[in-house]
Amino acid sequence: MTQGLRVALVCCAAVATAGSLLGCAEVQREDEITVYSARQEHLIKPIFERFSEETGISVRYVTDQAGPLMERLRAEGERTPADVLMTVDAGNLHQATVNGLLAPLESARLQERIPEHLRDPEGHWYGLSVRARPILYSTERVDPEELSTYEALADEKWEGRLCLRTSQMVYNQSLVAMLLYHLGTEQTTEVVEGWVANLATAPFSNDTAVLEAIAAGQCDVGITNTYYLGRILADKPDFPVTVFWPNQEDRGAHVNVSGAGITRHANNPEQAQQLLEWLVGDEAQQQFAALNREYPVVEELEPDSIVAEWGTFKADTINVSEAGRLQREASMLMDRAGYR
Ligand code: FE
Repeated sequence: MTQGLRVALVCCAAVATAGSLLGCAEVQREDEITVYSARQEHLIKPIFERFSEETGISVRYVTDQAGPLMERLRAEGERTPADVLMTVDAGNLHQATVNGLLAPLESARLQERIPEHLRDPEGHWYGLSVRARPILYSTERVDPEELSTYEALADEKWEGRLCLRTSQMVYNQSLVAMLLYHLGTEQTTEVVEGWVANLATAPFSNDTAVLEAIAAGQCDVGITNTYYLGRILADKPDFPVTVFWPNQEDRGAHVNVSGAGITRHANNPEQAQQLLEWLVGDEAQQQFAALNREYPVVEELEPDSIVAEWGTFKADTINVSEAGRLQREASMLMDRAGYR
């Protein structure tokens, strides 16, 4: 009873300050969980509805950017209504872990279904979909034979032909963190400096702008997450940009995850665990990935049809948590290399 009252009060505060979806009238019950999600509403709502239908557990959710959600979790402490934090990029999941916001979870089901490199070694979070970040190129001006690796985009032949998203975005911090892991500081610095020297224009604020710049002829190659291309292709099947899978002869293309963990102060951790375990079922996986044209985290499952057209690829299997660990160093390196 005391606990119920506590949650109700937190809900009211949340509504007042952040326009939360949580109502004030009800208290959190045992057949109800609350998810703080950096994944947008249209990507989670249909999934949560199916989970509720199948299990009788209702899901409340609050969507926002990863940073504000983590700040909110931290500020709420043990009064938080959140049972699950769902966010994108291992960099963010790592941040939530080191800030003590997530509780470690042992789950044979999750361990069996999710490849080892796509979850936290200590179980604080589990990847739920895979997001690939390969090279994208103009089908009109680039022969894919010219492409090979992320590193090779630093070659002089790409001078004035490369577009990148800003280094302020966690996606590129994770990508450079992985380069650091594999190549070390000196070589990674050379690569990033080479990219900067090859830029056709100042870095863009988002991946879609990179793809549109390639299509418009402002540049010929770029690096983005594939689902942004998937979204464009769903509307414009003739969009003249496609995927090149880099580093297939060595470590594989860079991948990251969207994922989730149970909050340290979850009110209903068992029901929260039920949600995570349900999300790695075949159908839930396919739907969860397909809604955003990502890849299922369960290996044998097929992606959405637009995604499948880009073919299969070898992915880097270094644990994505390394991207989190090396993120700060990667940011500083990009800064020194003049990549803004
Ligand atoms: Fe994204």
